Amino acid sequence: MAYTLTKNVQEQALTSLKEWISIPSVLNETSSKWPFGDEIQRMLELTLRTCEELGMTTYMDPEGYYGYAEIGEGTETMAILCHIDVVPAEDEAAWKFGPFTATIDEGKIYGRGTQDDKGPTIASLYAVKALVDAGEVFNKKIRFIFGTDEENLWRCMDKYNEKEPEATYGFAPDSDFPLTYAEKGLLQVKLHGPGSKDFQTHNDGAFNVVPDKAVYNEKEKVAEMKALADARGYSYLDQADELVLTGVSVHAKDAQDGVNAVVNLADLLKEHYEHEALAFIADNFVNDPHAKQIFGEVADADSGALTANIAKLLVTPDESVVAIDLRLPVTADKEVLVADLKAAATTYGLEYEEYDYLRSLYVPLDHSLIQTLLEVYRGLTGDNSEPISSGGATYARTMNNCVAFGARTADVPMTAHQVNENMPVKNFYEAMEIYAHAIKALTCD
Ligand SMILES: [Zn+2]
Repeated sequence: MAYTLTKNVQEQALTSLKEWISIPSVLNETSSKWPFGDEIQRMLELTLRTCEELGMTTYMDPEGYYGYAEIGEGTETMAILCHIDVVPAEDEAAWKFGPFTATIDEGKIYGRGTQDDKGPTIASLYAVKALVDAGEVFNKKIRFIFGTDEENLWRCMDKYNEKEPEATYGFAPDSDFPLTYAEKGLLQVKLHGPGSKDFQTHNDGAFNVVPDKAVYNEKEKVAEMKALADARGYSYLDQADELVLTGVSVHAKDAQDGVNAVVNLADLLKEHYEHEALAFIADNFVNDPHAKQIFGEVADADSGALTANIAKLLVTPDESVVAIDLRLPVTADKEVLVADLKAAATTYGLEYEEYDYLRSLYVPLDHSLIQTLLEVYRGLTGDNSEPISSGGATYARTMNNCVAFGARTADVPMTAHQVNENMPVKNFYEAMEIYAHAIKALTCD
């Protein structure tokens, strides 16, 4: 790729990135007057300082939930949605270089946040700087929005959307090229029911993971359950005193590709115990990760079928809890699906609790934003990969008319959230160049 716009700012951008990486902006809710801790606040202040040096005007939310920086004039606002918090470095000793030292080795810059999301944020900021240096004039307002809680609960963007006007459209440089235009809605629920004096089971997995283990240890019934598991073709570990059913663990968004051990366990236990939670799972989810018994066929061309993952099953003497992670197709009506689920739960005497909900991301492929971004990306890279539809969740979904656009190119391994997170300098510079042309096409022409 020829760096026609960004050549002169590459080194400045790299220097800025190093400075940003040196701040461990990890959530810390203890002993700070700021909502997400002193380091995230320090990072927010540094971010806005960088923006001022680049000639932008800045604003910091007095409560410390977010900040923004603006440049250009116009009736429309294009948002560039970034976040400056990072996940912890975890096992620091396992890193080749200190996670907050921004070391360059063999063409890669190492450090927590290089991919997610400080590298992409700096790339888009210096893309604007390159346009300013080239004498471009923006006929729209460009607003960089800096979130501070993306790695946890997105409380920053809840506050932002509460206090600030909507942008006309925008992109989030916090994912992969070419761009993500559709992401399923995410609905996580808990169903509460009665406990049991006859048996107990404790399967407490994460919502977003298809459980590959489910345990039953009422000793006197284990042999009987194993015989039943054999009859059904369910796998289990060879253990004497308990039944440990095994499945295949995948991300909940791909539930149809996994084998849910908890569903299989409920299917077996239901033969011996009359219990609401067991009946609910066994009747509705065996061999059906799309929960068609409850919802019917729910699917669309852009995002595929609804998926349902039974993530937890807890039965104690006092209560039972079933936790479900649902991924809703982008055109589905959430309220209708919630009503269906509540009705089904009520039939079994279970009480519905909404645990978390993230609305879907969906910008139609013929939208001018997508057309422009794709045209720029394809023209510069020659890569004609199709736009991405996914069951995962990027930050782009916190705003209307917003897609995720870069910054990772297809040849670069995903290292975000991992030990030795790094971004090839080449990827960093390429992203900057792509952003410069995209921002120019969206706000100058
Ligand atoms: Zn991110």
